Amino acid sequence: MIKRTVVSLFAMLAVTSHAAAQTCSGNPVAIQILGSGGPGINPDRASAGYLLWVGSQAKILIDLGGGGFLRFGQSRAKLSDLAMVGITHLHPDHTSDIAALMWGSNRAREAALPVFGPSGNGAAPDVKTFLNRMFDAKTGSYQVLGPVLGTEQAGADRPVLDVSVVDATKDEPTKVYDRDGITVTATRIPHTLPAIAYRVETGGVSVVFSSDQNGTNPKFVDFAKNADLLLMHMAIAAKSPPNPGHAAPVTVGRIAQQAGVKRLVVSHIGQFNLDEAVAELKTSYSGPLTVGADLQCTQVK
Ligand SMILES: [Zn+2]
Repeated sequence: MIKRTVVSLFAMLAVTSHAAAQTCSGNPVAIQILGSGGPGINPDRASAGYLLWVGSQAKILIDLGGGGFLRFGQSRAKLSDLAMVGITHLHPDHTSDIAALMWGSNRAREAALPVFGPSGNGAAPDVKTFLNRMFDAKTGSYQVLGPVLGTEQAGADRPVLDVSVVDATKDEPTKVYDRDGITVTATRIPHTLPAIAYRVETGGVSVVFSSDQNGTNPKFVDFAKNADLLLMHMAIAAKSPPNPGHAAPVTVGRIAQQAGVKRLVVSHIGQFNLDEAVAELKTSYSGPLTVGADLQCTQVK
C-alpha cells in the first residue's frame, strides 16, 4: 500500500513537470511549427501555424489553422507572452482555430494583442472585417466572444485583439511592428486570395514566413534576401502542373537559392510523395534544408 502510494506520487510529479515543460525555446531565436500540413485531413499534421520563440517566450504567432489550437497547447506557449499575431491569408487552413484560441482569452492578457492580416478583394474580406464577422458582440457568429474586439458593447474594458489591415496589393514591403527589439515587415505574395508574408528581425537574426504562394513575384526573393531562416510551403507534389496557388517544389528551391538564405524549412506538406518532392526541390537548392513536422523546433543561426 505504502509502496503504491510512493509510486503514484512519483507518477504525479512526473506528469506535473512534463505539463510545465516548453517544447521549444530560442537561443536566442527559434521557430516552432504548430502545424506542418495543408488543408487536407491528415493523421499526422495539423494545418498551418508557426511560433517564433525569443528565449523562453513565444513572441509571434503566424496563422492558426485546424489542429493549431491543440498544438499551441502542446507547445506550452502562453497567450500572455505573445507580442503579435500575423495572419497570412483567410483560407480556413490558416485561420480556423483562431476562435478556439480566443475562448477565455480575455482573462489571459493584460494588454491588447496586435493582429495583422491582409486587405480584401472580391474573393475575401479584409482581416478586420473577417474578425468582426466572427466576434462582433451584436452581429458576430460568436457573439459570446464579443470581448475579443469590443469595448463598451461587450461590457469589456479593453479589446483582446488590436487588428490592423496590411495592404496586400502594394509592391513594397510594409513595416507592421517595431517594438522591444522585434521588427516585422510584411509583403504581398501571389496566391488565390490576398496574402502576405512576414519577415521578422530580432536578436540579430532574420526569419521569413512565406505561407501559400505560387512563386511568381520576383520581389519576394528580395524580401527573403539573406534570411537566416526561410520557411516556405511545399504544398504540391513533384512534377505538378502550374498551380495558381502554390509553387512547385523546384520553384520553392529556386527562390531559397536566389535569396541566399542560410536555412530553408518546408512545411504545409500534403499527402503526396515527400521524397520525390524533396528530390525535386534539391535540383534547385543546395543549402541546409529542414522538412517540417508538427511541434518541430529549429534554432535560427
Ligand atoms: Zn491558402
